[in-house]
Amino acid sequence: MDKKLAAAIQRDNELEDAGMHGDDRKTCWTHQSWAEECENDPVHTNPSVAHYYRQA
Ligand SMILES: [Zn+2]
Repeated sequence: MDKKLAAAIQRDNELEDAGMHGDDRKTCWTHQSWAEECENDPVHTNPSVAHYYRQA
C-alpha cells in the first residue's frame, strides 16, 4: 500500500469517527484501497452485504 493511500484511509477513519457518513469516504476500509477502484465489487453492489462494520 502506498503512503498516500494509507494516509487517506487513516484520515477517512478519523473523519468517520468524527461523524462523517461512510458513503463520503474516498477510501475503502474493506479493500484497503481507493473507493473508486473497488466500487463495482460485489461486496459493495450487493445490498445484503453492503454494510460492513470495520474492525476496531
Ligand atoms: Zn471496496
